[in-house]
Amino acid sequence: MLDYILLNFLFILVGALSYFAFGLYKNKHFKLIIGAFSSISVVCCMSFPFTVFPGYIYDLRIVPFLVALIYGGYRSGVLVTIILLLYRFYLGGSGFIVTALSYIPIFIIVLIFLKLRKKITGKQNIVMGVLFSLLSALSVSIWSAIHLHKDLVHHEVFFAYYCVILMICSWITFFFIETMRDNIHMRDEIYRSEKLSVLGELAATIAHEIRNPITVSKGFLQLLKSRTQNETDLKYSILALEEIDRAEAIISEYLMYAKPQAEKVEKIDVKAHLSNVISITEPYITSKGHIVDSQLDDLYVYADSKKLTQVMINLIKNAAEAIEKNGEITIHAFAQNNHAVIEIMDTGIGMNEEQLLRLGNPFYSTKSKGTGLGLMVSYRIIEALGGTIRVQSKQGIGTKFSVLIPMCMDVDVQQ
Ligand code: ADP
Ligand code: MG
Repeated sequence: MLDYILLNFLFILVGALSYFAFGLYKNKHFKLIIGAFSSISVVCCMSFPFTVFPGYIYDLRIVPFLVALIYGGYRSGVLVTIILLLYRFYLGGSGFIVTALSYIPIFIIVLIFLKLRKKITGKQNIVMGVLFSLLSALSVSIWSAIHLHKDLVHHEVFFAYYCVILMICSWITFFFIETMRDNIHMRDEIYRSEKLSVLGELAATIAHEIRNPITVSKGFLQLLKSRTQNETDLKYSILALEEIDRAEAIISEYLMYAKPQAEKVEKIDVKAHLSNVISITEPYITSKGHIVDSQLDDLYVYADSKKLTQVMINLIKNAAEAIEKNGEITIHAFAQNNHAVIEIMDTGIGMNEEQLLRLGNPFYSTKSKGTGLGLMVSYRIIEALGGTIRVQSKQGIGTKFSVLIPMCMDVDVQQ
């Protein structure tokens, strides 16, 4: 029996870890790939079950089934459920109904669970994997007792063994997956910060040098523009000046990021600070026909006021630029889990998944006059404060940027 259990375990581990090993996690259809790999593991596990007493056939298919659901989500879950049921049907025998009665409810429960929980940590995933494997084992056992009238005396003894095996196997599988995910995340993080520091050094040395010739050419072009009578020349010089302005904007934003600015961290009243930022940006937003709505709670954080302003202006400007016709920008500030949360929502064009992945990369911009540096700088500033920026976006519906900054707890209200 042990050899078959180990064989099952091998199928599960190969299935669960190969998408990391082959770098498939970068693929656009990663979630479906998890579903496909898990389906193969499920089929392999079901093909080599272990029999303890005649008529009591078990396998560990629940583990890849849960991997597909927890990491792949709804679509991958549907795929693996369909394949599992079809294969069970193909194998024949009386177990099909028990399988369907056990796995379909588990599928629904896990999905509801995933929907209800907003942010799931790695540890929670492991606990979830183990608990749901046990739950499904219980469900299979109860249904087979009811439906197939299995002799419960033999069954109970084996069931206890089976639960232990299942627990160990699911714990190891989910633990490995989480460890791999952590490692990959860390590697990407290191890679990104290295890229940024190289970028910073380059910026400091080159940007200054480029600025001077650009200023000189701009001067000459302006001279040309004011003197020319020829309409085509005028058009060209206007275009050239626009492009030069763009280059200047990139350089200034770049330098702002590269320059090691002195941090002046102080206690900031978020409500007053945001009201101030809104009053600065409102004329720009309303001139484009958009509405601003804000709802700000009393909150305090430690931050550099100028930098925080820079982040907020960046995000609000992006929100305004994302709206094509008339739209609305909503700004909320509230406390949640010891963090000050500042939400900037717009009813603009939104982003697809690929765009979301590229956010914050230097020079990533979809605008003709964009620099693609605003978000990168914002991410850096907020990260330096020990905070994070989260983005939710739907194409055609809008975007929500949430800035989370650790809250300053000693609220000494001044009388
Ligand atoms: P820039 O604004 O100069 O393009 P950013 O770094 O500020 O550079 O933004 C990068 C890109 O992210 C934008 O070009 C846009 O495609 C996308 N983006 C940022 N904010 C939003 C938003 N609120 N709605 C839709 N797209 C956005
Ligand atoms: Mg921007």
